[in-house]
Amino acid sequence: MKVLKFGGTSVGSAQRMKEVAKLITDGEKKIVVLSAMSGTTNTLVEISDYLYKKNPEGANEIINKLESKYKQHVDELYATPEYKQKALEVVKSHFDYIRSYTKDLFTLFEEKVVLAQGELISTAMVNFYLQECGVKSVLLPALEFMRTDKNAEPDPIYIKEKLLAQLELYPDAEIYITQGFICRNAYGEIDNLQRGGSDYTASLIGAAINASEIQIWTDIDGMHNNDPRIVDKTSPVRQLHFEEAAELAYFGAKILHPTCIQPAKYANIPVRLLNTMAPDAPGTLISNDTEKGKIKAVAAKENITAIKIKSSRMLLAHGFLRKVFEIFESYQTSIDMICTSEVGVSVTVDNTKHLNEILDDLKKYGTVTVDRDMCIICVVGDLEWENVGFEARHLMRCVIFRYV
Ligand code: ASP
Ligand code: MG
Repeated sequence: MKVLKFGGTSVGSAQRMKEVAKLITDGEKKIVVLSAMSGTTNTLVEISDYLYKKNPEGANEIINKLESKYKQHVDELYATPEYKQKALEVVKSHFDYIRSYTKDLFTLFEEKVVLAQGELISTAMVNFYLQECGVKSVLLPALEFMRTDKNAEPDPIYIKEKLLAQLELYPDAEIYITQGFICRNAYGEIDNLQRGGSDYTASLIGAAINASEIQIWTDIDGMHNNDPRIVDKTSPVRQLHFEEAAELAYFGAKILHPTCIQPAKYANIPVRLLNTMAPDAPGTLISNDTEKGKIKAVAAKENITAIKIKSSRMLLAHGFLRKVFEIFESYQTSIDMICTSEVGVSVTVDNTKHLNEILDDLKKYGTVTVDRDMCIICVVGDLEWENVGFEARHLMRCVIFRYV
């Protein structure tokens, strides 16, 4: 069975939902993971901000606007009064729920529960639409099987067991629709897999059911060899190794969430990136196969902070790097790039939440300098020196030396 994931833009209007429905009804059994309609999660974050600030008027204004948009989508999506009514009731119940927090500002407001409403609504809408079209579609509630453990990492054993049990309840279904992004944590509370996490959901489901393929459907034809928002005339890369895709996803390519790679890679399930606007285009296939001797793509990540620690104590000493890394670890800050010499170490970080504390601790070990607003350029491919052209070699050296 395949797992297909459609992002927010792919289900961003009634028309787009109808197109998704067309794409997924080919008679093959499949699991379909959906994001919230585009813009919804951001709006729910905005609503949560007003609720945090105990501003019910501000929250209500946005809630009402969003609800009327949904009513319009419902009106456009369904042909029959019966389904219009059913969908309106679901939409209303979710909005009433969000609104309940504006009425009683003393109840403990739960942002994660508010954020979950987007996926709960979009999946209910598409499921009703398929049923109205006569398709055997069922909703698999992600909150019944998607779960994280005490370290906030997905719990694959639990996910597999509960998901298979859910699937067994509906042996005759053709399409299983489920929510991306949302899950429960180790304490059973509603949580999520972080922004953009629907790709991760698809990959975890793919691994749990040993899918034949995971398809991530967006609005661009695969992963491009450069950022099309910045560079003209980019073209899609047809084949990538999981590790190449992970680097590109992490270092700038927005099309795929980097967390999505790991479960698929370990379960050896190919991931195909496809375009809802051009469904016949080949897209990008990500697998454990490597294409040798080729540079595939360049990506860039901005707002990077580079930290340089120089210390004569490092000379001929051991254990220095461990002490440095432990500081980053104690503030849960991951290091992206590292370069060392005999008297110094340079690292880059993306997350600057604890930068001041980290810098204070590092100062115990040497002179620390910080470069803010830097950029990492990531060149991905089979980079054996003898196969690499002069420009790429030069570029790589510039990048490396910039940080030393
Ligand atoms: N709706 C969530 C977000 O906007 C998850 C996703 O779309 O992947 O972050
Ligand atoms: Mg996404």
